[in-house]
Amino acid sequence: MHSQDTELSFVCLGTGRGATTVYSGEPSSAIALRVGTRCVLLVDIGFGVVRACRQWLGEIPDTILVTHNHSDHAAELPVVLAAEAGASRRLRVAAEPRVGSVLKQHRLHELNSTGEPLTAFCDWIDTPVDERWSVTPRLSLRLLRARHSEPCFGFVAYDDAQPILAYGGDSAVDPGYYDQLFVAPNVILDARATGNDEHADFDAVADYVAAHPANRVWITGYGRPDQAPQDMTPIFPGDVVTLSQRAS
Ligand SMILES: [Zn+2]
Repeated sequence: MHSQDTELSFVCLGTGRGATTVYSGEPSSAIALRVGTRCVLLVDIGFGVVRACRQWLGEIPDTILVTHNHSDHAAELPVVLAAEAGASRRLRVAAEPRVGSVLKQHRLHELNSTGEPLTAFCDWIDTPVDERWSVTPRLSLRLLRARHSEPCFGFVAYDDAQPILAYGGDSAVDPGYYDQLFVAPNVILDARATGNDEHADFDAVADYVAAHPANRVWITGYGRPDQAPQDMTPIFPGDVVTLSQRAS
């Protein structure tokens, strides 16, 4: 058992999808992982997420995992790296190497005009798929390939050796992928009212979830709050969820 000042939790920072922030202002899908009150990881930094960090966390975490290069997951990265470096702070950015390559070449192209190398702005961490990455001595992540229109990676997070939280990232319905995520007792999945080749729909996810009653599952990526699912458990910006192992 961990005492309250070391318990693991996540904070929901946003649930927006591709166009949500641009057209409506609500923040894009993102969470922060916390150990006690300390934020140890920001997962995705799309449109609107920096303001959500300031609102709900009071800070931008030192380490950022970027699941993929879509704007609702990565758009604010170049601005934040430049602004924080200007304040003498170097963030850590983690991504699967294929995602990292796209981010460096395209998303972060605007940093070239500074004449400074990327190493002047951040410490880059390659996090290959299926390899354990230690975020802290206690918390580690293993990335998994999602089913999406471009390379995108969810993860299973481990508290010491125990799976504690899975995050699906953007993905179409994929039982094989979900099977890997559902080793964790707590799961966050992308879903929306109407799915397509790269995003799951509520009904298909609900069917999978119904067959796995031992897992606690939250839905993100649905868009604005009024687009949240009625018959599932959506998360909303500002929600704080304490993570526990399966009830015995
Ligand atoms: Zn995407």
